Amino acid sequence: MVRENEVREGELAIELPPATDAGLIFIGRIRTPWTSRLEAPRQGRQDGPICRLEIFEPFVPAMKGVELYGNLEVLYWLDKSRRDLVLQSPKNDRQARGTFSLRSPVRPNPIGTSIVKLVGIEGNTILVRGLDCLDGTPLIDVKPDRCQFTPLAPPQKGDLETE
Ligand code: SAM
Repeated sequence: MVRENEVREGELAIELPPATDAGLIFIGRIRTPWTSRLEAPRQGRQDGPICRLEIFEPFVPAMKGVELYGNLEVLYWLDKSRRDLVLQSPKNDRQARGTFSLRSPVRPNPIGTSIVKLVGIEGNTILVRGLDCLDGTPLIDVKPDRCQFTPLAPPQKGDLETE
């Protein structure tokens, strides 16, 4: 069930410790068709609508090479989420699970991730399918999908070690 900002039966809200500034920089803004959490899909689908990753200056040169990958990993800041629930009841049925066992947007650091399909590039904008966030969601990072990415530098010792 989609949450607005309520605390449900069985859930636990904590007093958050003071923020430690991780120095996060928003590198862009995500444009999607969804303006309400009631409409947004719970997880993006690669046959979903085209969404736009608008990259801000001065980060536009960082887009170079993105077109080499069919799939990208996108990280974003779920800015409308509350951050203080450590137990959550996704079904609002008095059954609670720990935040770290869920992909809920409600978390101490509300970072969302999606693997998206690259559709195209228009100037400073990357067109993708596979997102689930609200229009205007701040963009944290874009990376090649780890399954498609081969490190460009030669292998190093730790790459080959197993426990
Ligand atoms: N795919 C990401 C993940 O697994 O990390 C996010 C999954 S989360 C379940 C997606 C939901 O977050 C959406 O259905 C919507 O209810 C909510 N959401 C989307 N954008 C948001 C935003 N900017 N702030 C707060 N909640 C948001």
